[in-house]
Amino acid sequence: MSFLFRGGDPALDLVNTVIVEAGAPLDLIPTPADLAAWTAAAGLGSPAAVSPEVHAAVLDVRSALKEAFDAVLAEQPVPTDRLNAVLADAPGTVLRAGPDGLQLLPRVDLTADPAALPWVLADAGARVLTGGGLLRRCANHDTCVLLFLDTSRSHTRRWCSMEACGNRNKVAAHAARASGRPPGARPRRSPR
Ligand SMILES: [Zn+2]
Repeated sequence: MSFLFRGGDPALDLVNTVIVEAGAPLDLIPTPADLAAWTAAAGLGSPAAVSPEVHAAVLDVRSALKEAFDAVLAEQPVPTDRLNAVLADAPGTVLRAGPDGLQLLPRVDLTADPAALPWVLADAGARVLTGGGLLRRCANHDTCVLLFLDTSRSHTRRWCSMEACGNRNKVAAHAARASGRPPGARPRRSPR
């Protein structure tokens, strides 16, 4: 199973692990093993395994984040109780030398111990909710539900992926225009 990393943030990519396929929701991380693979693919660490408890907690964070992001997009008050319950499990911090001097970082090593994974993802989501970035849903409403942070300079990004959704829309619009042509015009079809 291939994962999608189009959100621009781990919290959005987590919510984007529920996609729509053939009109029905499809969960890309239905098992602990899938979550371990996703965590590695997301670059968060390479845990050998994820426990069923951590898997269940991450799915709960995913649902809480989706609720929060949906509220932002609907310009409604953002529910915070469920996220706060996870944020309360914050790990300690540690000083590490970085390229620009010392950094104060969460004491988390998801490769050695993925127990902090729910917190890492809830914390990432909390940063999205408070960071002032532009949260968007892909404009391909017919077949796509993915969220992303619009970091384009002009703030005009519309698609989760130009290849996956932008071009499909362009082809569809082109086909619609072409179908309005007089008889004899070469019919155009979108691929699939
Ligand atoms: Zn899309």
